Amino acid sequence: MQHYLNYVGGQWLDSSRQLQVINPATAEVFATVAQAGIDDADAAMAAACRCTNSGALTDVRPAQRTAWMLKAAAAIREFTEEGALILCRENGKNLDTAREEFDEAARYFEYYAGMADKVEGISVPLGKDYVDFTSYIPMGVSVQIVPWNFPVSICARSLAPALAAGNAVVVKSPEVSPLGMVLLFRALEKAGFPQGAINLLCGKGSEVGTHLVKHQYTNQIVFTGSVPTGQRILKDAAERATPSVMELGGKSAAIAFADVDLEQLLRSVKVGIFYNSGQVCSAMSRLLVHRSRYDEVKNAVVALAESLSIGIGEDNAELTPVVSKDQQQQILAMIEKARLEGANILTGGTAPELAGYFVLPTIVEATPNLSIAQQEVFGPVMVIMPFDDEDEAVAIANGTDFGLVAGVFGENLNQTLRVANRLIAGQVFINEWFAGGIETPFGGVGLSGFGREKGQEAIYSYVQTRNIGIRLKHNA
Ligand code: NAD
Repeated sequence: MQHYLNYVGGQWLDSSRQLQVINPATAEVFATVAQAGIDDADAAMAAACRCTNSGALTDVRPAQRTAWMLKAAAAIREFTEEGALILCRENGKNLDTAREEFDEAARYFEYYAGMADKVEGISVPLGKDYVDFTSYIPMGVSVQIVPWNFPVSICARSLAPALAAGNAVVVKSPEVSPLGMVLLFRALEKAGFPQGAINLLCGKGSEVGTHLVKHQYTNQIVFTGSVPTGQRILKDAAERATPSVMELGGKSAAIAFADVDLEQLLRSVKVGIFYNSGQVCSAMSRLLVHRSRYDEVKNAVVALAESLSIGIGEDNAELTPVVSKDQQQQILAMIEKARLEGANILTGGTAPELAGYFVLPTIVEATPNLSIAQQEVFGPVMVIMPFDDEDEAVAIANGTDFGLVAGVFGENLNQTLRVANRLIAGQVFINEWFAGGIETPFGGVGLSGFGREKGQEAIYSYVQTRNIGIRLKHNA
């Protein structure tokens, strides 16, 4: 059985303990990874701190960081096929999605390579007696905690801008899907970053994660994951007032108006709720449809759900297993609760008779107050409901504690834009779910978190402002 290691201070480190990695398509253990402990975390933090203090990342011309990052991007592309296969096996996702993760990871490195030498400060006019300027300096040691749903691309999403800005990074992988990130680090090792600039720990959140969050060398926490864990981390971070970026969950709504183009909407529904088996923070987990088109859209969405091919990731099926048995049971329990609360399960709602941890594509008709319409399911489960007018649609869409993304579908640009402006979310898509890309800022409001990733804006999540004021002598 293949065994994988942690990456600390430029070395691959084994551990006396192991985490087993299960293939959710077969429910079998197929690999192990060294389980990082407190000592490994201390070693990684010390290595990152030494790297920061040495100036190896910051004394160089920024173009040097650009060069390392472009080498990293090229190496990631070389690892795509090997990495995608292992990611597909450990995570359940289909091979194309796994390949996209490596491609996206490479794109993050390319994109932020281009920004490394453009983080410019400003000069502040204070009259003839002063010169004053600000510069953006790195945070120092950035601790980054990654979830299992897109471990490779989310890891790169935070790691690339952090490195471009000159931070050393310690990353913690998720328990259930660490191996894709190990492959990512094998690629990054080839880029020649200074020793200690990048470190990977495959440990448990409750042990290594907590230790990193509270660590005296931690200058920043970047957390992507669930709301309860984010809240716990924020409490721990408060002890040292450590600045944090929080990328949390969502319950994102699409609003389809009476003039919606049905084919266009269905393409978005397919990726919006069934991509990665619905395990997407920005999934289209609610669909609000104008009553005049409600039955037509509902029937079409149910037909779409029932048409998806179901199978394992290696066969590139459209709907593949969810990541773990726990996740599967949690999803099924939420559907059952919805049923008991009076929701109408239009299709799916159960696990098929297959070996892996599958959940059938599920469409639930529910009123806005039911738990299934309020809480994140994180599986292939969409809630559908009708509305009568614009105000009602906006009220329902904004009526959860989350605010990650939202969508508006319709031909009337005035109406779609008017409504987009009223939606409480970090990003609003019009007529295509996931419109945008790594170039567009992403992040939440409310329980979806704070801080922004992606786009030029994200680089400023990884720097702090320093102002220098100089008093001039005019007769010197
Ligand atoms: P999770 O909160 O269970 O775990 C995320 C990470 O936190 C894991 O690496 C875990 O080991 C670690 N962790 C757990 N307890 C910890 C602690 N006390 N201290 C430090 N670290 C700890 O989330 P998950 O189940 O892996 O991911 C799914 C969730 O992530 C969903 O809610 C989803 O919406 C969210 N998510 C958000 C985004 C975004 O960008 N907003 C992206 C992907 C996923």
